[in-house]
Amino acid sequence: MLNIALFGPPGAGKGTQSDFLIKKYNLFYISTGELLRKEMANQTKLGLEAKSVISAGGLVSDEIIVQIIENTITGNPESRGFLFDGFPRTYIQAYILEGLMIKLNTSLNCLISLEVPEEISVRRLLERGKMSGRSDDNETVIRNRLKEYREKTLPILKFYKEKGICHEIDGTKTIEEVSQSIQKIIKEELSKRLLNIVIFGYPGSGRGSQGKALAEKYKLEYVATGPMLDHEIKNKTEIGKKVSELYDNGQLVPDEIVVQLIEQKIANSKNVKGFIFKGFPRTLVQSYILDGLLKKHGSSISLILEIEVPTLELISRLDARSKTGNCMPYDNSTAKIVKRLQEHEYKTVPVIEKYNSLHGVVKIDGTGNFDSVFEKISEVVENRFKMLR
Ligand code: AMP
Repeated sequence: MLNIALFGPPGAGKGTQSDFLIKKYNLFYISTGELLRKEMANQTKLGLEAKSVISAGGLVSDEIIVQIIENTITGNPESRGFLFDGFPRTYIQAYILEGLMIKLNTSLNCLISLEVPEEISVRRLLERGKMSGRSDDNETVIRNRLKEYREKTLPILKFYKEKGICHEIDGTKTIEEVSQSIQKIIKEELSKRLLNIVIFGYPGSGRGSQGKALAEKYKLEYVATGPMLDHEIKNKTEIGKKVSELYDNGQLVPDEIVVQLIEQKIANSKNVKGFIFKGFPRTLVQSYILDGLLKKHGSSISLILEIEVPTLELISRLDARSKTGNCMPYDNSTAKIVKRLQEHEYKTVPVIEKYNSLHGVVKIDGTGNFDSVFEKISEVVENRFKMLR
């Protein structure tokens, strides 16, 4: 999700800029002022309560705001993001917003403050008042709205500065120039987003070779736990020694070890556009671990792929591989091949089913040659990149 708050005094141009932002980034627009005006027009209880405060240029109580905003936000959970205009306006509302974002399992990405001197605000609002028909666009009320802004709203900038998500823009420039500055901020914000892909498929489906090729093409870090463990063994690290002991005793590698390796890999990967996970998560427990690891880095899974190949074709591919130089130690006998296929079926298929019901899994027909499958996957990845950034 992309969640943005437009901040600034009345007349700063928040409404004007909102028009293009909601279209360009497909955001759900929430203007508390507009919601209140609707309540007043419909003469609801809330509207009647708010009316006298609004026409005097004061701020409506936080209790009223929380009621109108909660309904709107929770009624639109499918939205790709929210654009807030005129909210938050008080310190309390800043905390309300935090709470609402947590409820949707997301956060505010940036607060863009349009800076405009008071006299320009007054001039613009008086001009708007000639057309808007808004009872609060007259000089006495405007002065009071600006006083409220100075005293109650402006101080909350500190809250967002401390969070490091506040961006200040000169709001006296032309509409076009201000739009450009806002887009620049959003573009930077979006470019920080990681594309995290999980690639599933039975052994022999081609997930390893496809995963590696995708990583190279899209500058993603390829995270395959099997080779990572082999690497540790080869380099005789502390972890490697433990793992080879476990292997010798025919035991499974515990999640603690795998987690450490993935954590290191994520921490050491700078300037990557995202990660592609292969062979992890393999179990339901590991799927929770992955969510936690990504969340720690402010990220999440962006795309889940499953390469589908019929079982007989898998067996014939694995059998063929066992006769070549690419033979893996784990596919040098029929018994081992069957064991791996069963492992996948019993432990990993439930993980895919869980993801499918949570986020949707994109199924790819993996029966063609490498290039034709790669082309299909690339198209899905590119579309996801576009959606994300
Ligand atoms: P606006 O359309 O944002 O200029 O808002 C018009 C009026 O609605 C304000 O002057 C306030 O009286 C009231 N209002 C809008 N949003 C809020 C809010 N977040 N908190 C308190 N009062 C608000």
